[in-house]
Amino acid sequence: MNLETLAIHAGRPPDSATGAVTPPIFLSTTFERDIDGSYPQGYHYIRDNNPNRTMLERCLAALEGGEAAAAFASGSAATASIFQALAPGDHTIAPQDAYSGTGTLLRSMFIPWGLQVTFVDMTDLEQVQQAIQPNTKLIWVETPSNPLLKVTDIQKIAAIAHHAGALCVCDNTWATPVLQQPFQQKADLVVHSTTKYFGGHSDVMGGVVIAQQPSNFFQRIRQIQVSGGAIAAPFDCWLVLRGVQTLPYRMRGHCHNAMQIAEFLSQHSAIDTVHYPGLLTHPGYPIAAQQMIGGFGGMLSVQVKGGRTNAFAVAAKVKIFTRATSLGGVESLIEHRASIEGAATKTPENLLRLSIGLEHIDDLIADLTQALE
Ligand SMILES: *Cc1c(COP(=O)(O)O)cnc(C)c1O
Repeated sequence: MNLETLAIHAGRPPDSATGAVTPPIFLSTTFERDIDGSYPQGYHYIRDNNPNRTMLERCLAALEGGEAAAAFASGSAATASIFQALAPGDHTIAPQDAYSGTGTLLRSMFIPWGLQVTFVDMTDLEQVQQAIQPNTKLIWVETPSNPLLKVTDIQKIAAIAHHAGALCVCDNTWATPVLQQPFQQKADLVVHSTTKYFGGHSDVMGGVVIAQQPSNFFQRIRQIQVSGGAIAAPFDCWLVLRGVQTLPYRMRGHCHNAMQIAEFLSQHSAIDTVHYPGLLTHPGYPIAAQQMIGGFGGMLSVQVKGGRTNAFAVAAKVKIFTRATSLGGVESLIEHRASIEGAATKTPENLLRLSIGLEHIDDLIADLTQALE
């Protein structure tokens, strides 16, 4: 079945009790046992599972072409569950350019806990190969990366990982399965912050780990989800499931607008560099053109001529774009990234990150035109 159809129907048949086409929100924390002590519907306690979470997990697994999924309260909780499923003393390889919260999790929680981490430029396969150790258990990929839109060859990294007996995990938040299917590139696990494109309306937080196979490693993640308790709440699951229904169509609009803005900005005299994998001049273009299907995403970043001061001045002048962090909603956002990432940031001071929304392209370009004057 095609993605547009799965997005609307997977995991959410009409409610068997009432015929409701849109699923009810099941707020009950507990479920009735039968006289023999069994749980006839399979549900017992909300932390273990919940009908809204089951629907969402089935839908997201179907969209990525995976076998199983575990929904969490945030993308960060989903990320943490994967590192928690490793053991102290294990080694993992992670990208230097990635969602800053992932680096913070590793540095502030998992390295003190005993995980060994080597940060590399994930676009340089030689560096990744060199970083392999006998205890390497996992390679973390995020592509396109945040905030420099670096493109990593998932299939090649997965091959390096598998040769070393390690797993390859892909954070697919920015591309979504509409544009990139990591399991087809041989990744073992996919992670999303569903706070972004899946939810799609900047009104719900969540995360998910999707497994290509219900492996022992995924069973550990399930255990961490259920025992650790960082689960997604029923209403949050309901909102993400609702958002997902329009995901394939929203992604077309995000890609269409972002491509035109990338082209516009790359011609603009006030801009030094545009980072967008759909531009022929982007170093990651050849891999992105193979690996990404139907578009290059809705995210881009620009380096403004004149440094931090000018970058702030541009962000100060926009009227339709909103100055805010996060991404993947219907509204366009602009953000000075270095100042939110904290003192350890390697992000250039003149960099603005743009989440391109679904407003009319002419209005967005007019807004950027006046802001860059
Ligand atoms: C936002 C984001 C995360 C973290 O997700 P939260 O839902 O904010 O915890 C992880 N990875 C990427 C690529 C993100 O954009």
